[in-house]
Amino acid sequence: MNKLELEKIKEKALEEKIPIIMDDTLEVISKILKEKSPLKILEIGTAVGYSAICFSEYLSSNGYIDTIERDLQRVKEAKENIKKAEVEDKINIYEGDAVEILPTLNDNYDVVFIDAAKGKYPFFLKEALRTLNKDGIIIADNVLYKGYVMSDYNKHKQRTAVRNLREYIAEVTKDPNLETEILEVGDGLAISKRKN
Ligand code: SAH
Ligand code: MG
Repeated sequence: MNKLELEKIKEKALEEKIPIIMDDTLEVISKILKEKSPLKILEIGTAVGYSAICFSEYLSSNGYIDTIERDLQRVKEAKENIKKAEVEDKINIYEGDAVEILPTLNDNYDVVFIDAAKGKYPFFLKEALRTLNKDGIIIADNVLYKGYVMSDYNKHKQRTAVRNLREYIAEVTKDPNLETEILEVGDGLAISKRKN
């Protein structure tokens, strides 16, 4: 991986206000990935490829990342970035809406990273559980959404997103097969480990 290019990709994404993963969140996920050394990662929400490029460093040999993005301009930029970072052999982008693409996937993943439309998190969870390996980990970003999720604030215009994020947290918390931690890093991170 080309670290100098990665730095440039990050700077440009921040300049363009693309919501790439925050540094403290990346630090937490990197630690988990380093320990797990996953063979296959599924990412929902590629944007311009920044997080996928970062994660690719922690794959076991021959490992790969499948990542889904519906914004075609971002897909184009992600492809260029992945090439610049010299990790083309490790990242595969699915172009389109994850709601349509996820049900067509038949692979099994060690880690699923959810970082896309907040209103779809309960659906993404269902698909993550379907594709997740035993001992797999589901990581979801932005679950506390600027603090709205844990407050009693209901009138915000993003209330559908908030409702669905609350539902996501409730489901991963009550699922007896998952061990879940909600961290206040970045915009809120849910880490759910499958126990069986
Ligand atoms: N993971 C990236 C940031 C992703 S930002 C990083 O940290 O570098 C969220 C992205 O998800 C946006 O680019 C948005 O276009 C995409 N997205 C949102 N809903 C989606 C959906 N239903 N299907 C596919 N992509 C989606
Ligand atoms: Mg995010």
